[in-house]
Amino acid sequence: MSAQLIDGNALSTQLRAQIAARVGDLTARGLTPGLAVILVGDDPASAVYVRNKVRACEVTGIRSLLEQYPATLTEAELLARIAALNADPSVHGILVQMPLPRHIDPHKVIEAISIHKDVDGYSVQSAGELMAGLPGLRPCTPWGCMKLIESTGVPIAGRHAVVIGRSNTVGKPMALLLLQAHATVTVCHSGTSDLAAHTRQADLVVVATGRRNTLSADMVKPGAVVIDVGINRGEDGKLCGDVDFDGVRQVAGWITPVPGGVGPMTITMLLANTLQATERAMS
Ligand code: NDP
Repeated sequence: MSAQLIDGNALSTQLRAQIAARVGDLTARGLTPGLAVILVGDDPASAVYVRNKVRACEVTGIRSLLEQYPATLTEAELLARIAALNADPSVHGILVQMPLPRHIDPHKVIEAISIHKDVDGYSVQSAGELMAGLPGLRPCTPWGCMKLIESTGVPIAGRHAVVIGRSNTVGKPMALLLLQAHATVTVCHSGTSDLAAHTRQADLVVVATGRRNTLSADMVKPGAVVIDVGINRGEDGKLCGDVDFDGVRQVAGWITPVPGGVGPMTITMLLANTLQATERAMS
């Protein structure tokens, strides 16, 4: 058996076309969605992520405002910039690229962003809205994973989903989104004993550990849907995920590749959140 590929690039293209059409409508009515992206320091990976986000905005007609600062920027200076962007009506979303230099408290920065412009969905209030099942801006990566799972047509309700990883940005919100979709959810982490015993029972597995080969073929139930969030470098220097792709695809029913799976969807959901924030600002 060989798993069907869940193509994040193809799904992104489809969703971005829908987003571009709605952005076009808003622009015609005199309101172009605007996303401010703040990059502090010179981390090369962050620079690539930011560039991809800005480019995706351009393609969909969202106005992007890239602000780049040296690593010496103080916390107070960054908070002052965020306050100014919060007050700017032409900016509907604010994204501060993580990680920040060590002298800046990321929690303070996230909480300084207006809840209406929190397009990363990382703030305590956004997390609370997700937890309570209230409308709000959802974290982009887990939301993108939900879209990828939905695209398979495999029902989520009533299925057993295992999430490996419990970070505030991926694992925890992923578990909540799956719970909201009526899956029975198990969350595993580095302290889980016998990870394979859990994953072997799963109809759906989302892996977000940042460790290569966290999930191997012998840990997967035949036919399961496998979503690989991880971004790692293999020994050959090539990009790879947390899943042993070649092995697991022999057992799973559906699988996302790395690259070309979750990555493009994370950016697509950022665009969707910016659009949603703009539409809300209008109403
Ligand atoms: P974190 O490091 O914040 O969290 C990793 C989680 O994995 C932790 O909960 C940790 O457990 C758990 N974990 C680590 N090792 C194991 C193990 N051997 N078995 C079970 N659980 C384990 O990472 P993130 O959640 O931020 O990101 C995860 C991965 O996803 C990274 O590779 C990151 O680069 C990638 N990523 C990709 C995105 C994309 O767009 N494609 C977006 C965001 C992230 P514990 O809590 O006990 O330490």
